[in-house]
Amino acid sequence: MTMVPAKAYAALQPAAPLEPYRMERRSPGAHDLLMEILYCGICHTDIHQTQGEFPGSIFPMVPGHEVVGRVVATGAEVSTYKVGDVIGVGCFVDSCRECRDCAEGEEQFCDLMVPTYNGLERDGKTPTYGGYSSHMTVDERYALRIPEGLDPAAAAPLLCAGITTYSPLRHWNVGPGSKVGVVGLGGLGHMAVKLAAAMGADVTVFSTSADKREDALRLGARDFVLSRDPDTFQRLAGRFDLIMNTVSASIPYDSYISLLQRDGTLVLLGVSMEPMELSGFPLIARRKKIAGSPIGGIRETQEMLDFCAVHGLGADIEVIPIQQADTAFQRVVKGDVRYRFVIDMASLA
Ligand code: NAP
Ligand code: ZN
Ligand code: ZN
Repeated sequence: MTMVPAKAYAALQPAAPLEPYRMERRSPGAHDLLMEILYCGICHTDIHQTQGEFPGSIFPMVPGHEVVGRVVATGAEVSTYKVGDVIGVGCFVDSCRECRDCAEGEEQFCDLMVPTYNGLERDGKTPTYGGYSSHMTVDERYALRIPEGLDPAAAAPLLCAGITTYSPLRHWNVGPGSKVGVVGLGGLGHMAVKLAAAMGADVTVFSTSADKREDALRLGARDFVLSRDPDTFQRLAGRFDLIMNTVSASIPYDSYISLLQRDGTLVLLGVSMEPMELSGFPLIARRKKIAGSPIGGIRETQEMLDFCAVHGLGADIEVIPIQQADTAFQRVVKGDVRYRFVIDMASLA
């Protein structure tokens, strides 16, 4: 197979700073697109993974799964995209294509789903490299169309933060009048607020940062509360249909469950490696649920992008050159991000 040279930034080992890295992408096969990457968002998961927090990680690691680029070459049998189209790639680039999940367009649940980075291709040996790079080759079936009218830089975070929050909002039928709580106002959280508000929900933000109040209200929340304020939990007891936890650490789960009404759900999107402490009785008493939700499938991701175009939604971003990605990682960990860093890949040149 002929290869296309690509520039990238990689962590060579767990917790190592990112550094310039040369690699190769496959030349487009019959169904592939070769894209020149324009922008890539920095997801907190990129930090968890480059730090080596997840077992079995593969180094060198080129992170990045909020990728937007322009098609520069297409395989002979490509039918859905042409050279010049602006496309996106999210958290996975392949799956088995045959199981029930794949047939239903829920590829994120497929046992053979191939993550965009820190995974292996379906040959079981070729590592995947993410979007902190100049080029990427992707099967057209796993690419998304970035609608005209969406700013490509602000659209990049939709490929993970957007779909990860859109999917549970749809799954739990959020609409006009729904009462939704969003815990943590970061990359995922700020998209959860925008999307839920656009669906007509009454949104409350739970935050540890008092200075995010104005932003939360501007993004579409009706209420903003400090989670460390003890009276928050008394005042809002039994109020919510759905609470979305986007915090990248443990939270007091029982306290949030007390805020759900009958049949309400606390859905976990943020990752903590610690075991959860939970008491059963409050769940039983009001038939409440605690659930998790991973990203979303290709069909639903396209639906989300189209929804964002109709409602004029993108992420609130700070665009940086790739040379500042490490500093951006540190700022994300400190909570100093409003609300997503996006790397301008022109800085790789
Ligand atoms: P982020 O931008 O860092 O936002 C997380 C927010 O949580 C922070 O802005 C902060 O908001 C709050 N927070 C952080 N540390 C906290 C702590 N110790 N206690 C309480 N609140 C804290 O991160 P992100 O990119 O949105 O990602 C959030 C989490 O979701 C990460 O764990 C990521 O790995 C995970 N994730 C999951 C999926 C999925 O498929 N389920 C997809 C993408 C990401 P306040 O200042 O408002 O408190
Ligand atoms: Zn992500
Ligand atoms: Zn499958």
